[in-house]
Amino acid sequence: MEKRIVVLAGDGIGPEITSAAVEVLKKTAVKFGHKFDFDYRYMGGCAIDKFGVPLPEETVAACKASDGVLLGAVGGPKWDSQPAENRPEKGLLGIRSALGLYANLRPAVIYPELSDASPLKPSVLEKGVDVMVVRELIGGIYFGRRGLEDDGKTAYDTEIYSESEVRRIAKVAFDLAMTRRKKVTSVDKANVLLSSRLWRRVVEEVAKDYPEVALNHLYVDNAAMQLVKDPSQFDVLLCPNMFGDILSDEASQITGSIGLLPSSSLGTCRAGLFEPIHGSAPDIAGQDIANPIATVLAAAMMLDNMNLHEEARAIEKAVGKTIADGWRTPDMGEGKRVGCKEMGRIIAKNIG
Ligand code: NAD
Repeated sequence: MEKRIVVLAGDGIGPEITSAAVEVLKKTAVKFGHKFDFDYRYMGGCAIDKFGVPLPEETVAACKASDGVLLGAVGGPKWDSQPAENRPEKGLLGIRSALGLYANLRPAVIYPELSDASPLKPSVLEKGVDVMVVRELIGGIYFGRRGLEDDGKTAYDTEIYSESEVRRIAKVAFDLAMTRRKKVTSVDKANVLLSSRLWRRVVEEVAKDYPEVALNHLYVDNAAMQLVKDPSQFDVLLCPNMFGDILSDEASQITGSIGLLPSSSLGTCRAGLFEPIHGSAPDIAGQDIANPIATVLAAAMMLDNMNLHEEARAIEKAVGKTIADGWRTPDMGEGKRVGCKEMGRIIAKNIG
């Protein structure tokens, strides 16, 4: 199969971690007989330096025409003095909106060998953690009507959802659950909010099309508590925008490892956006010590979105073997020390 992948390396450690992930993708293509074409484009601080804007039109066009976009990270102190409308982060917001990315997926997985990094007790972790947070990304209170009244003495933001917005994100969650452990937990505050009652009703309607998937509902306050009490009870956690923002950060902290967690954003374009959850880490840029695993796992999520599931599982297995064999970048603690480049090479070798 032939696929066109846009690589937005970005700033800071971005070029190092995306280069490691591309090495793993190249090996995957060889093993499974595919052809991946890599199209390198500019976004973020590097685009400001070259084109004067964080998101050039030609980058948007290339992303829209691609099968998937792999992003490193953007930003850094070099561009901190840029005016707000021309900062690297504007590129990120711009590409999300240009690709209509309404679903943000963030897996939180614990590797048993790295469970020391988790703030949770071993007795809580022993049942395993493998949660996929599905967050609605372009609706809800962050996009509802807002305002200031009484000369600035009163402010309001509006939580607003339409049936169609809930239906499309719920479908993403149920489709994912079908490829996982077939359980969806929908998060809302239906005891208080009307918008949550609509959310719950539409999620139940969508659930009828997925009779194999078990659905339960949790109020967000209870969900936050249950995540640290017994994360093993969750498979897919379906959340409105703000609740998902908070719970996905909580879920990622359970794993204790910022350098290991990927994220994907899917939407109305064929191409989704796949990236690590961490930033551009300017403090360690250019030293070949960044952990590329989150970006490698983001590449696996990209292959899933291209329906290359066997290939995606092969990458995840190769990462698991690399960790089990004791290879560690400095952020991962004690072990057989490797840099970013070498870590990429070892994972690629473990693809087989
Ligand atoms: P950060 O995630 O870049 O770094 C936080 C800490 O984690 C740093 O000590 C860093 O060295 C470490 N770290 C991060 N990724 C690592 C990796 N792969 N391997 C090893 N260590 C890693 O967050 P920050 O310092 O708050 O932000 C730095 C810049 O990144 C800022 O300009 C910020 O705006 C930007 N940022 C970009 C994105 C994005 O592109 N999606 C997300 C968050 C922050």
